[in-house]
Amino acid sequence: MAVFRFDTSYARLPGVLFARQPPEPVRAPRIVALNAPLAAELGLEAEALDAGLLAGNRLPEGATPLAMAYAGHQFGHFTMLGDGRAVLLGEHLTPDGRRFDIQLKGSGRTPFSRMGDGRAALGPMLREYLVSEGMHALGIPTTRSLAVVATGEPVVRETPLPGAVLVRVAASHIRVGTFQFAAAKQDRAALEALLAHSIARHAPAAAQAERPALALLEATMAKQARLVARWMGVGFIHGVMNTDNMTLSGETIDYGPCAFMDAFDPAAVFSSIDRQGRYAYMNQPRIAHWNLVRLAEAMLPLIDPDETVAIGLANEAVQRFPALFEAEWLGEFRAKLGLATAGAEDRGLVEMLMKAMADTGADFTLAFRALAEAAPLPVDPRDQPAFAPFMAAWEARLAAEGTDPEAARARMRAANPAIIPRNHQVEQALAAADAGDMAPFERLLAAIRQPFAPEAGDAPYRAPPLPHERVYATFCGT
Ligand code: AMP
Ligand code: MG
Repeated sequence: MAVFRFDTSYARLPGVLFARQPPEPVRAPRIVALNAPLAAELGLEAEALDAGLLAGNRLPEGATPLAMAYAGHQFGHFTMLGDGRAVLLGEHLTPDGRRFDIQLKGSGRTPFSRMGDGRAALGPMLREYLVSEGMHALGIPTTRSLAVVATGEPVVRETPLPGAVLVRVAASHIRVGTFQFAAAKQDRAALEALLAHSIARHAPAAAQAERPALALLEATMAKQARLVARWMGVGFIHGVMNTDNMTLSGETIDYGPCAFMDAFDPAAVFSSIDRQGRYAYMNQPRIAHWNLVRLAEAMLPLIDPDETVAIGLANEAVQRFPALFEAEWLGEFRAKLGLATAGAEDRGLVEMLMKAMADTGADFTLAFRALAEAAPLPVDPRDQPAFAPFMAAWEARLAAEGTDPEAARARMRAANPAIIPRNHQVEQALAAADAGDMAPFERLLAAIRQPFAPEAGDAPYRAPPLPHERVYATFCGT
């Protein structure tokens, strides 16, 4: 019996866009985490998903394994890349007709591996599983994780680590860098095929537009504006917003050195390789804009045959991004503050709160949750006065709106999570997993799946790190 219902449209695109590549078998596959709710959503029978299949030792019926080619600006520098340690098994159609990429990450070498070994370590794959599940529970678009399978083989990083394969589920793996790859190859047919494919999957209405490429660009801008505004609203720092890590689907992808902030700091950076702060919390909207300009450049020949006309139209489109983002950002923070209407002073109101949080080192998540619960702010009592100007302005704003404070707070409890995947807890769960104990991972996973309605037993997961638990840097783990 077939496990997946594969119909892999990507494999029908021009061959320059991918390399056919089976996963390399692993020695002793063992399931470490299996996402039963996700399997059910995909219409898969969890019992049919055994370790050999999920690790790539056995190909499911209908699979057309391939490594996708892409390029990317990594920290601003252009490079030709591709799936160096992942293969797309195929596109699975759910019983209700939705299409998802099923990808194995850590599945061995491919023609795009360069100097890499094509493998992944257990810790980073469990990290992606936890944080992507947390992101999904927060209602934020993201790739998901169907399973993590230990390979029974070591991977050599600074030290030998247990190896693993992650089964990733995505609306697609088309990145800004996929278009950059076709553009860099100056392959008109590949660009056109990729455009039609992306429109079919992510912006079907664009097919009817006067200029479908421009319409796809605009649809992608809208999704990225929304996505980054949602990240900002939960204090998430992606860490590696390279153009190869930005999707056309608008899903969060590639959980490397990412983190949810504890104490609020607009300049917060966690990635150990981001020495310039390029991908700091407050820079994310600017970087999203910069990445979208790269997408527009790659799409120029698709927008108009006359380059001057194409540049004019692309410019006009991407210049709208800051306003688009501002509207999404304001919407996000208005909801967090329980505001039902838009007011001209709202940006100032949020900035007042952010300044007080930054000045007092308040925990981002707990500060908003305290406002929602009418609880004391999570700062030293001597620091409470820092919030007084904000509190007065906020209460006046709610009163002017005629919003009943209790109704506002009820809405706020649905918009402000109590539980996020905090770095120190993720690290503790991964350390235990490395030592063979999955219980802390399972407990943390259960807690972050209910971010808005914590149970009494979840109290430890609401707590910010103690000074000695604080995580200052996160690593790609590649
Ligand atoms: P990432 O930092 O995961 O976004 O990866 C950036 C690029 O490096 C992608 O092309 C990956 O496929 C590639 N890569 C990362 N780790 C490895 C590895 N262990 N072996 C081969 N390629 C890798
Ligand atoms: Mg990547």
